[in-house]
Amino acid sequence: MKICVLVKGVPPVGTERLGADGRIERTTLEPNGADEYVLERALQLAESAGAEVSLLTMGPESATDALRKGLAMGASSAVRVGDPRLAGTDLRGTVAVLAAALRRIGPDLILAGTDSSDGGAGVAGPAIAARLGLPCLVNASAIEVAAGSVTIRRPVAGGLETLRAPLPALVVGTQLLGEPRYPSLRGIMAARSRTIETWSLADLGLDAPAVSTIVTGSAVPPPRAGAEIVRGDAGAVADRILAFLDARGLP
Ligand SMILES: Cc1cc2nc3c(=O)[nH]c(=O)nc-3n(C[C@H](O)[C@H](O)[C@H](O)COP(=O)(O)OP(=O)(O)OC[C@H]3O[C@@H](n4cnc5c(N)ncnc54)[C@H](O)[C@@H]3O)c2cc1C
Repeated sequence: MKICVLVKGVPPVGTERLGADGRIERTTLEPNGADEYVLERALQLAESAGAEVSLLTMGPESATDALRKGLAMGASSAVRVGDPRLAGTDLRGTVAVLAAALRRIGPDLILAGTDSSDGGAGVAGPAIAARLGLPCLVNASAIEVAAGSVTIRRPVAGGLETLRAPLPALVVGTQLLGEPRYPSLRGIMAARSRTIETWSLADLGLDAPAVSTIVTGSAVPPPRAGAEIVRGDAGAVADRILAFLDARGLP
């Protein structure tokens, strides 16, 4: 069985910055956190059910670092769709390109994260399933595969629901799948020399996607007024806090 995990390369959380063009700088990328959870489950299925796990990303050259971490964790192959004409692609274009790449890979099971830490639309997975005409199971906290079908469990109001769909299918998994493993030193070393395939739009038989949603502005919110940190002797600190509250008419 072939499992393909969608791994978006995102800036390390906490380091995100808007560049001069108003877009998030993407010089250093790592695997999107939510995608590591589904990758972990894919690797477990590879171990227990003999599945083959591939990775797919669409992104700039720096996105290969995100794929390399996935290879170090245990994935067997990785593809990056990269093309200068993809810079500035919107969600619809991203979905069209990833769907075309998935048609070429032909997995039995596609796994996606719930959302990305930079874009955060939270719809790429289901939109790809719709585009490919595949069953889509979302919010999975457990994923099992057997005899041509995938079964998930997911929390719903008042309990847990179990759903099954025939393969091929797409599943969006959550952090409840379990903690992703750390890559071993051996895995990291081996991943360094692995070949990551790069596909262009031409390789996929696609034209540059038309951008239908335009980013009309982006701004860093003004810093919030600084908090006062009171340090020192407990009595003096208590006095300062009481004075602070008193000045604001608080009890
Ligand atoms: C340089 C740049 C310019 C952009 N310009 C525009 C613009 O003009 N207009 C606009 O609307 N948007 C723009 N975007 C946003 C971009 O289109 C979104 O990042 C894309 O739509 C995916 O949405 P998301 O990150 O919110 O995905 P989500 O829906 O939050 O992602 C859910 C899951 O889908 C999978 N996934 C998502 N994206 C990828 C990927 N690239 N590769 C592999 N797996 C993936 C992952 O498993 C992820 O966990 C731009 C992005 C960049 C980097």
